Amino acid sequence: MIAIPFSGNPLDRASERRSDPAWLRAQAVAGLYLPFWQNRPFIADAHVKFQPWRAEWGDATCVFLGLDGEQPLFAVDLPGESEPVLGEGSFQEMRHSAFVLPARDTAIAGQAKALLDWHKRHGFCANCGTATQSQDGGYRRTCPHCGAEHFPRTDPVVIMLPIFKHDDGREECLVGRNKRFPPLLHSAFAGFVEPGESMEEAVRRELREEVNLEVGAVSYHATQPWPFPSSLMLGCYAQVLRREFTIDGHEIEAARWLSKDEARARLADTIEDEMKLPVTIAIAHHLIKDWASR
Ligand SMILES: [Zn+2]
Repeated sequence: MIAIPFSGNPLDRASERRSDPAWLRAQAVAGLYLPFWQNRPFIADAHVKFQPWRAEWGDATCVFLGLDGEQPLFAVDLPGESEPVLGEGSFQEMRHSAFVLPARDTAIAGQAKALLDWHKRHGFCANCGTATQSQDGGYRRTCPHCGAEHFPRTDPVVIMLPIFKHDDGREECLVGRNKRFPPLLHSAFAGFVEPGESMEEAVRRELREEVNLEVGAVSYHATQPWPFPSSLMLGCYAQVLRREFTIDGHEIEAARWLSKDEARARLADTIEDEMKLPVTIAIAHHLIKDWASR
């Protein structure tokens, strides 16, 4: 198994039990709570820091994360303009935290962030506009007026590395530079899967639109939950039928083929120039690395 950050959550989500309000109330009493403030988890000593419930948190939004052995774990979204003071530790930006936290803490904090963020932005019924109520520990909201049920969203995004195979068997991958990327970064290509579209079709459409590549076989490699705010990254390889490409100049401003040797050297940061490849928290890093090492 490849360890992709934000995956590998060890908690038992108890999805068959969390719909029982009496069971959930008992868990809440025995529970520990991971505080969030402005989408940031509370962190101390490079670990997420769960705490006993505090009366001052009042009716702050709470979600059930799962059971860690016997221990029920929740997350709580603290309101307010100024950072709550909870003793040793501080609220840290989620993306940055993924670099310092252990893998299990990153996965748990990512689950909590995606859920709390959804509640913050989906408080009203999309059908009739009435304020909705959280159910099942936060995995469902129901409308008391029209009865509609609303579930936390997960948006599929294809992220793919185009591969060209020469007649002699050598392979190259194409990395591109999106205009919105940080300076120097080149990465795999990505885009949201649209309604009525398969994963393979989305891969083909995006690569045609962004770099005008003709794609043959598409193969799935791995997925990654990406809580910014609620994506599921579907990592794929796309075999391209010809090496020529044309950047669209709209989203993509540059693209380049890399050999396996060059990709490995760049991932190891041994080349100092105008190009950087994605960092380890991104699935694109693993797509490139796993291809280059096989
Ligand atoms: Zn409604």
